[in-house]
Amino acid sequence: MHTDLVAALDIGGTKIAGAVVDGHGTILVRAQRPTPAREDGDTVMRAVEEVLGELTTSPLWGRARAIGIGSAGPVDASAGTVSPVNVPGWRDFPLVERVRAVSGGLPVELIGDGVAITAAEHWQGAARGHDNALCMVVSTGVGGGLVLNGRLHPGPTGNAGHIGHISVDLDGDPCPCGSRGCVERLASGPNIARHALENGWRPGPDGDATAAAVAAAARAGDPVAAASFERAAQALAAGIAATATLVEIDIAVVGGGVGKAGDVLFTPLRKALADYATLSFVRRLTVVPARTGTDAGLVGAAAAALAGLPGAAAGV
Ligand SMILES: [Zn+2]
Repeated sequence: MHTDLVAALDIGGTKIAGAVVDGHGTILVRAQRPTPAREDGDTVMRAVEEVLGELTTSPLWGRARAIGIGSAGPVDASAGTVSPVNVPGWRDFPLVERVRAVSGGLPVELIGDGVAITAAEHWQGAARGHDNALCMVVSTGVGGGLVLNGRLHPGPTGNAGHIGHISVDLDGDPCPCGSRGCVERLASGPNIARHALENGWRPGPDGDATAAAVAAAARAGDPVAAASFERAAQALAAGIAATATLVEIDIAVVGGGVGKAGDVLFTPLRKALADYATLSFVRRLTVVPARTGTDAGLVGAAAAALAGLPGAAAGV
């Protein structure tokens, strides 16, 4: 593994995090700003520049050889641009060029946030040691990424593995992406909560109507809450089974807030997967919770930067 350091940026709709990271994935320096998501593009970029500016004051900055960026998508890695759904000021925003300009011309690697989390899980988490894996984030949205033949497979634009927008319900509800019956429309946290409320579940005295509250109710035996998780699990299982049948993954890793629901999600998910993944070559497929934590986006972005360095170890 490299003795060089890299810088990492994790850009989301609520925060912009930055770090200097070593070749073992250890975060040595951090900086963070809230994302001014409703402001114009240059204002958002200034927040990125402040994060980078803070990192450059570290004496370790001089050893950084590249910058990895994991950004909310869609991204276009081939063009170096990003158009995050939750940051309207950035449409085809030339993020790679702008970051390179303020960082002294270091090489910049851009990947989508789902791909970044996949890189982190493959490097340090539940997909470690697996040559063919699907890693997913199930929270406000549903994203993901693929490891194929032992390597991260971002695809030409950096979005491959975006399982949230595979359609699993032919006549399902319209999805904001323009399609219908997408995995995200059935399995994201807000959609789990919506389904529970529509079917008569009511939040407790604290008024918490999030998917986490639905999960707590399901654990306490509420059948409507449990049914909402079973429906989400079924959608996830159909998407995972389709992916496994196409590219022969042997593990699916589920992270994000909904992934933390535990048995309420994983018991029906494993059961539904047995129903959908039936051919001999996908029957051994396992599904497990993610192991990397809140730094997964930064660690994954660092992995992408390290993988792009000359002489990089394969497999990151
Ligand atoms: Zn969709």
